[in-house]
Amino acid sequence: SNGSSESALSKFKLPTIKFTKLFINGEFVDSLSGKTFETVDPRTGELIARVAEGDKEDVDLAVKAARHAFDDGPWPRLSGFERGRIMMKFADLIDEHVEELAALDTINAGKLFSIGKAVDIPQAAHGFRYYAGAADKIHGDVLKMSRALHGYTLLEPIGVVGHIIPWNFPSNMFSMKVAPSLAAGCTMVLKPAEQTPLSALYYAHLAKLAGIPDGVLNVVTGFGATAGAAVASHMDIDKVSFTGSTEVGRVVMQAAATSNLKSVSLELGGKSPLIIFDDADIDKAAELAMIGILYNKGEICVASSRVYVQEGIYDELVKKLVEKAKAWKVGDPFDPTVGHGPQVDKKQFKKILSYIEHGKREGASLLTGGKPCGDKGYYIEPTIFADVKEDMLIAKDEIFGPVLSLMKFKTVEDAIKCANNTKFGLAAGIVTKNLDVANTVSRSIRAGIIWINCYFAFDKDCPYGGYKMSGFGRDMGMEALHKYLQVKSVVTPIYNSPW
Ligand code: ADP
Repeated sequence: SNGSSESALSKFKLPTIKFTKLFINGEFVDSLSGKTFETVDPRTGELIARVAEGDKEDVDLAVKAARHAFDDGPWPRLSGFERGRIMMKFADLIDEHVEELAALDTINAGKLFSIGKAVDIPQAAHGFRYYAGAADKIHGDVLKMSRALHGYTLLEPIGVVGHIIPWNFPSNMFSMKVAPSLAAGCTMVLKPAEQTPLSALYYAHLAKLAGIPDGVLNVVTGFGATAGAAVASHMDIDKVSFTGSTEVGRVVMQAAATSNLKSVSLELGGKSPLIIFDDADIDKAAELAMIGILYNKGEICVASSRVYVQEGIYDELVKKLVEKAKAWKVGDPFDPTVGHGPQVDKKQFKKILSYIEHGKREGASLLTGGKPCGDKGYYIEPTIFADVKEDMLIAKDEIFGPVLSLMKFKTVEDAIKCANNTKFGLAAGIVTKNLDVANTVSRSIRAGIIWINCYFAFDKDCPYGGYKMSGFGRDMGMEALHKYLQVKSVVTPIYNSPW
């Protein structure tokens, strides 16, 4: 139930909202239309603040600033070492403001404050340090060449980047996109999700304090169909890096194709399987299955929303899982004893509840949960369905909420076949002590990341992205840096030989 104690919460002072305007060319400005939109606290459904509503003409201004900063400004021309120094300073400033940033993501996205403070915000800072350390190590290769030619490659920044990001991890997404593109020497326009504009604007403020030159990082808040679409179709943006739904990813790619053929990378939806074999440690497996679906209230594209359990341990595992889900506390995300807070907004809340109704109608067995909780806000109970069939909607669609589908399997081959029976391919988990099984399954599943005896084991070094309709391109690791770089070959004759 929504049982946060008032006394634990009253100790926490809500953040004051300092930044609500667009950040263009180093200044906070109103939108040209003067329009604003509401940003809402999902704990209550109440208004937090009104934020500038950017549209096409604001995106134009932001791109102009980014273009100028790229074509004539210092950022791409600084040594990588200097860019890295400024990014390190940015990272330190993020750490200094960890409480405010975590609180902004809590009131805006319903994320746990304790996790924001301990994980999301420090990891966002760390992302800037990781790519700061890479900024002065970007280099091409000397080529062998088959004739009497000297050839080498240069790695150059791709240019002006448009980042379009979702609302589930506002701080991680900001860092994951902005840090590698800054290190590469790009300039950029970032469009945060309309549900969560607040922390991105705060990061923009810190970027300026750190010394990132005006025009290098612009933030245009606003809606997808207007501001987002203007980024995707802009003639003067060289690359769009998108994270969000598969449907919108398709629209972004179409817009890129019909405008200037800008380079595209897409990190889209998922329906990731977690496969638990008979030899697994049952407690550990139940814990992974629970965290895999409930972390961040299931609003995570790699959520383990399909759990396949081998028949020998199925009954015992399901019993443990249900016990754990029943003990899980849903409530105010500022309360440190809570497991998850509210879903991000009313639309998601309703969408998840309608999938739950669908699951019931389709004949899946509801083992626990299935209802909203609390008298206000967008809270949903941990929900577990058993007897889920492969062709049910709840087994196929990304629900993006705390709703787990359980399925039983017999053999390793069955497990592989079921796990791959999806249009998505983002992640998968395997729980087994058998190395042969782990090796076979991890190589047979078509997904961008495989976790063996763990889940959500992300690391800055670990590239992350999709197979199939989960998109293409990789965030994180050195792969992410390379998506913001171009390769140029330079060739000259050796001796005065005729070429
Ligand atoms: P969700 O459905 O989970 O909210 P979306 O894919 O709709 O995810 O949103 C991800 C990001 O894409 C957000 O910043 C949103 O504003 C943006 N967006 C939505 N529609 C479009 C569009 N037509 N063109 C470009 N960006 C869009």
